[in-house]
Amino acid sequence: MNDSASTNFEDLEMKYISTRGQMEPIEFQDAVMTGLAPDGGLLLPESLPNIGNQLEAWSKLSYTELAFEVISLFATDIPADDLKKLINDSYATFEHPEVCPSVEVGDFQILELFHGPTLAFKDVALQFLGNLFSYILENRGGKLNILGATSGDTGSAAIHGVRGKPNINIFIMHPEGRTSPLQEKQMTSVLDANVFNLAVDGSFDDCQNIMKTTFGDVPFKTGHSLGSVNSVNWARVLAQTVYYFYSAFQTLEKTGAKTVQFSVPTGNFGDILAGYLAQQMGLPISKLILATNENDILSRFFNSGTYGKAAPVPTISPSMDIQVASNFERYLFYKVGKDASALVGLMNDFSEKGALAVELNENGTVDDLFVAGKGDTASTLEIIKRYKDDYGYVLDPHTAVGVLVAEKFQSPEAPTICLATAHPAKFTQAIIDATGEAVHHPTLDALADAETRCETIANDVDLVKQYVVKHI
Ligand SMILES: *Cc1c(COP(=O)(O)O)cnc(C)c1O
Repeated sequence: MNDSASTNFEDLEMKYISTRGQMEPIEFQDAVMTGLAPDGGLLLPESLPNIGNQLEAWSKLSYTELAFEVISLFATDIPADDLKKLINDSYATFEHPEVCPSVEVGDFQILELFHGPTLAFKDVALQFLGNLFSYILENRGGKLNILGATSGDTGSAAIHGVRGKPNINIFIMHPEGRTSPLQEKQMTSVLDANVFNLAVDGSFDDCQNIMKTTFGDVPFKTGHSLGSVNSVNWARVLAQTVYYFYSAFQTLEKTGAKTVQFSVPTGNFGDILAGYLAQQMGLPISKLILATNENDILSRFFNSGTYGKAAPVPTISPSMDIQVASNFERYLFYKVGKDASALVGLMNDFSEKGALAVELNENGTVDDLFVAGKGDTASTLEIIKRYKDDYGYVLDPHTAVGVLVAEKFQSPEAPTICLATAHPAKFTQAIIDATGEAVHHPTLDALADAETRCETIANDVDLVKQYVVKHI
């Protein structure tokens, strides 16, 4: 451990700025409660610490010890003992002692991020965020009423992150009859008094519109302490950086390599952004392999420099069926050298023309750190079957897209870590289609005859608002 470096870090007060440049810097706890910056931008730390000389010491730590080291660099307004407790409580709900273990499968290290309560990687961030909200409210007083819209994974991870917490209510809208029955049950079987599931008679877009309209009504939002848990919350990105460090250390130690590559199945650019930040902080990552399904706006961007909207298509990896990646703006901010006015110009291009473009560098790429590709339904099903036949390991459809693209970008020097973002039992139909046979998980099997609670509601903003007012 380098003492002088760690002392410097402890003295550092981390402040947060907006990508759009119109906000006075704020502290971590305010950044967590704010979510989106008032100028419409996303929050980022004013600077990134360089952890190069901590790597050796950090490589010996357990997951929660490492999480404390990483997060404490950014959460400088939370006392160390409080932060330790928050982190320990958040990861005690994971069923694996290592929290996020890696297993070797074929040529790859598979980083299993699905050992939390809802069996998807979003638990890593949302278990922490739920505890963080509670902690901040306890200290500051007040209440938080979370309103969210979900097509599946986010809603259940958010509900499990805040269930039973005092001073927090959560209202999650899902499109009635359009989420998978299993995903619906993961939400509606949570019977805590502070959890409200709303089945909206409409599509996921309708749910999102209700949410956006409600948040757009500022007097209503502030008057009812409305908050959001969506993936632009800085604490979510931060909590996700930890497993990049953790798995890289394990893989470097195991293989003797000097650098690693990560393959990340991507939708909102939240997960892979965490990897980018870890690399910027000094973790030796030689490539970030970005993988999309047919909704390929991000892989097209990294291959062409143009970020252009297309119509969304439903796939067997539904959590990546996204055409406008809400965290992409953070990457773009770094890409333009943290120049807020250049960033605003690009974002205006995107909202006016549905596309923005950046120049390619002398190697003809957007960024030499990234490579990108996509997987379609047929090739995703094929690789699920192949990995089961060859290695006895069942990939969920999202993870499979990542592994598929990773196969194209293997390196003799740098071992590849593939992020496994969900347990295959969550996506039974795709697994049956691929292999002829379902995968089970006791947590999901137990839902079969669980009691549920859910309110059906018309696709009407005013009715949703009335419902929220009545139940807070
Ligand atoms: C949310 C999700 C993703 C995509 O993560 P982003 O941060 O949106 O890129 C991938 N796989 C699964 C299973 C997910 O739930």
